[in-house]
Amino acid sequence: MRIEAKPLDLKLTVPFRISRGVQEISPNVVVQVQHGEYTGYGEAAPDDYYGESPQSVRACVAMFAPHLGDDPFLLEDIFSTLDHVIRLNPSAKAAVDMALYDLMGKMLNVPLYRLLGLNPARAAHTSFTIGLDTPENMAKKALAARDYPILKIKVGTKHDLEIIKAIREVSHATLRVDANTGWTPKEAIKMINELAPYNIEFVEQPVAAHDLEGLRLVRENVPLPIIADESCVTVDDIPRVVGCVDGINIKLMKCGGIHNALKMIHVARAHNLQIMIGCMIESSIAITAAAHLTPLVDYADLDGNLLVDNDPYTGVTVEKGKLILPDRPGLGVEQN
Ligand code: MG
Repeated sequence: MRIEAKPLDLKLTVPFRISRGVQEISPNVVVQVQHGEYTGYGEAAPDDYYGESPQSVRACVAMFAPHLGDDPFLLEDIFSTLDHVIRLNPSAKAAVDMALYDLMGKMLNVPLYRLLGLNPARAAHTSFTIGLDTPENMAKKALAARDYPILKIKVGTKHDLEIIKAIREVSHATLRVDANTGWTPKEAIKMINELAPYNIEFVEQPVAAHDLEGLRLVRENVPLPIIADESCVTVDDIPRVVGCVDGINIKLMKCGGIHNALKMIHVARAHNLQIMIGCMIESSIAITAAAHLTPLVDYADLDGNLLVDNDPYTGVTVEKGKLILPDRPGLGVEQN
């Protein structure tokens, strides 16, 4: 198999702010794996929070090239080799993983959901994310997003209660909040108890990633479910967060792709955890790959492609929040 990597700078429609910072461009990398007449597509959205960059992804792809072998169906062999070639670098591995699943689906002429034994009618509804801004502007954005029945509201500021009040005045949508590690446990307990009367479905990552005891303390003192995102990156993290949270947010870019996401889904279920599948700022390649897994999960937050201006691809579509999986072979993604 031959592999190549190309830069894909995704431009955010509006600058995207969370509690840690603001982003205007997401410097992603598209990976193509060629096998005979077939080409599989994958994508990396490297995040410096997890120690990656477009340069590190391209360096990984160059290191992976001699180790891919000639059979895309030998996924487990390929990934145990790549994990020996270099540790971590999950988004680089996710891009290769997606491209291999795309290849397998194309070679068998079946969509990915079918390859995985999943029913596309069970695909989830996605939330639509409102990035941090003034309460007035966030309410305006919530109003503009009225086609989406579920909104994910970024919080973790000094005026979170005002944000939720302003949004609730204009929206009856299901609201989820994501603090992206922005609160201390004490602040989180106070804030979540104040937000709870506004009909919030759950709270994502209230406190620092490493602070599992903080998560447990928050969970025991608030009336809303707590979901771990930054605290739960790979399958190894799952047993550690049991008892500290009600559920986990799985992302292909954190865990290294579809095959690892499937492992996480099954391990999380065995521990009685709720499961959300989320994303970074990604084009339709990576969003569609994740969307194929949503028949297995409780919640989806797959709107990264909806927040950018220049997505070169078409794959999964959204109708009133419901993810509609493409029925083309593989990921089912086409270049526009
Ligand atoms: Mg999150």
